[in-house]
Amino acid sequence: MDAEERLLDLLGRSVGLTRAQLARELGLSKATVSGLVGDLLARGVVTEAEQSAGGTGSIARPVEAGGAIAVPRKSAGGVGRPGTVVRLTGPDRAFAVLRWSGHHLWSTLADFAGGTLAARSDEVPVDMDQAELVADVEAELTGLHREAGREAGYTLGVVLAVPAPFQPGVGIPAPGPSAWAAKPEESPMWAHAGWLATDPVPALKERLGIHVIAENDANLAALGEATAGAGRGLDSVVYVKVTPNTIGMGIVLGGRIHRGANGFAGELAHVQVNPQGPLCYCGGRGCLRGLLGQALVDAVRPAYQRDITFQDVLALAEAGEPGPRRILDDLGLTLGRALADFCTLLNPAAIIVDGSLGGAGEIVAAAVRESIARHSAPHAAGAVRVMCGELAERAEVLGALAMVRDRRYG
Ligand SMILES: [Zn+2]
Repeated sequence: MDAEERLLDLLGRSVGLTRAQLARELGLSKATVSGLVGDLLARGVVTEAEQSAGGTGSIARPVEAGGAIAVPRKSAGGVGRPGTVVRLTGPDRAFAVLRWSGHHLWSTLADFAGGTLAARSDEVPVDMDQAELVADVEAELTGLHREAGREAGYTLGVVLAVPAPFQPGVGIPAPGPSAWAAKPEESPMWAHAGWLATDPVPALKERLGIHVIAENDANLAALGEATAGAGRGLDSVVYVKVTPNTIGMGIVLGGRIHRGANGFAGELAHVQVNPQGPLCYCGGRGCLRGLLGQALVDAVRPAYQRDITFQDVLALAEAGEPGPRRILDDLGLTLGRALADFCTLLNPAAIIVDGSLGGAGEIVAAAVRESIARHSAPHAAGAVRVMCGELAERAEVLGALAMVRDRRYG
């Protein structure tokens, strides 16, 4: 292939790249790339567009308030460097990302530079079966298209950010020899995700007629931060997702999600932190997960004599209240103790704490840093950067974008 063919091949496998990225990936000088792009622009083969939110540079942060996501429809600048992306001429394209959190389903229609075209939030049952999932996804796509004013054919694919370990082709990985080995969906561990008992992708593909990817939500967020967020340019990134009820972890090594032998890699929630602690539904004892959810708010409530939510704890800590700060500090120290061994063994370049924690995230990150400095081997502790995510709730969407690119969509 000559240089132009290689450039067109690369663009055909991407959803828009900057001239600098083209030069780097093709091993050509920027001047050569500019000459090639100029010629292709003149012939109408490629088009150049302003880089949308989050693609590879600027970032638009959604605001969650009152259960609804308010997302800027178009990037209004952001914090990244300005730039334009070159893409093949053709119809506008989009992909949808659906992510579940408890009873909530958040859905986003994004363009191929990561810009948000439409966003919705709906209440959904947690005990749905796969047929109900397929119907829900179809209804979400219809709603997204209506909101964005687009035809159904506009969307080339959908990415499911699922709240459970996931093994492509399998669904929830088989848990090994246990009471629930035959029917993992009946395990209390997966009560919130029985619809993943088998891989739902084939059924969704058949019903929707578009590309479908399912991936663990923390894995997608890790990929998002590794490609378009705080971990840009680093090849080994760990992402710690903190939700009101549990902790998730995504591992990106060499630019790729590391799922492990059967999809259970990154089960930080089930690292043992108290050998004498209560039994966990995973079959272990004293799992880290037990420090979150009700246990966490119960620890804060006596000081305030009122109902407290996880969001309250974050807000109080960010406002400087010493008690809630102490709770998050202790949580970070415990997380850091588990992550310290991970650092010693895998020597990652970065640990990124969930950006959706807002200002309270820095309290957790600081404690993780302290714990790693104390418990990790010095050569590993000195190499790892512990920081807060830049993308907040957009991390999964931009991870999905990276994945869509990698799968050679479009
Ligand atoms: Zn457990």
